[in-house]
Amino acid sequence: MDDMLPPWLQAPLTGALARLRGHATLVHGPSGVGQFEFSLALAAAWLCEAPVDGRACGACVGCRLMQSRTHPDFCLLVPEALAASLGWGMEDEAPRDPDRKKAKPSRELKVEAVRDAIAWSQKTSSRGRGKVMLIHPAQAMNAIAANALLKTLEEPPPGVRLVLSTSDPELLLPTLRSRCQRWSLSLPAADEALQWLEGQGLEGAQVLLRAAGGRPLDALGLAAEGVGAVQWRAIPAAVARGDAGPLSGWPVPRAVEACQKLCHDAMRLAVGGAPAFFPADSLPGGALLPALVAWSKSLARIARHDEHPWNANLLVEALVIEGARAWPRAPAAPSGKRLATLDAR
Ligand SMILES: [Zn+2]
Repeated sequence: MDDMLPPWLQAPLTGALARLRGHATLVHGPSGVGQFEFSLALAAAWLCEAPVDGRACGACVGCRLMQSRTHPDFCLLVPEALAASLGWGMEDEAPRDPDRKKAKPSRELKVEAVRDAIAWSQKTSSRGRGKVMLIHPAQAMNAIAANALLKTLEEPPPGVRLVLSTSDPELLLPTLRSRCQRWSLSLPAADEALQWLEGQGLEGAQVLLRAAGGRPLDALGLAAEGVGAVQWRAIPAAVARGDAGPLSGWPVPRAVEACQKLCHDAMRLAVGGAPAFFPADSLPGGALLPALVAWSKSLARIARHDEHPWNANLLVEALVIEGARAWPRAPAAPSGKRLATLDAR
């Protein structure tokens, strides 16, 4: 399993296995650094039945159970909405509640799930190497769920280790943070990340790595969602002419984030700086700073709202049309379609 771990996490894993002594660990670092993969590798090493230099051997019964995601002494708590993208589907839970399929998968970790995990932690270890509970992302626990976990975090059953993984420790209850030993991860240098992404066979790795703000696992995530380098490069010119085409069908948060990155880059360009997220030659020049500032405010307002009850495509098109005002000299959208702007809402 360690072979799957990106190179920039190898030395931190060795360090963590040698130095983590408490029963509760908080693994944190910027999004896309790989805190989930790192936490899994920690769990695999702890549950391995024949560790090599403290690392998971990859071959014993314990390691094979981890690889097949069926280790009885490993418990993963992730929100439903994330389980599939992490490759940990929760199919076995579906029959319990036939209506659940209709409901939107939750982005929260509910107290019931935490209580089930606590009950699990109180049973004896099946394979005698202790037990590991991994909670990712830890900030997905609502306040009730987090409070339910406190006592277990303070005084877990013997042999039980808890790993909380997060990109933002400040979002956790201070009482949770203070009970964990912290282990922080850092993003790799761009060269190292790029080399690794190319090794993963990612096409347009350089463009996607920049698109993801230098966060390699987020770059892979973009590709997994069907965002390619060509499509990413097409966004600035399309937005400048009021065409939301390259963003159509995107989840609202992803589309808003792309617009925020474009707005950021256009502002940098307007004041003589270099763009961070888009290739310089993909950005149309001549953007008007006041219009960009207004656009950034609209984008921030939409980004603050997690759920979007209204039509996602209409919302994104309205945002794009507002963005296009910053490039008045760009050619108009071919369709000439004009939708209600956000101001009119
Ligand atoms: Zn093993």
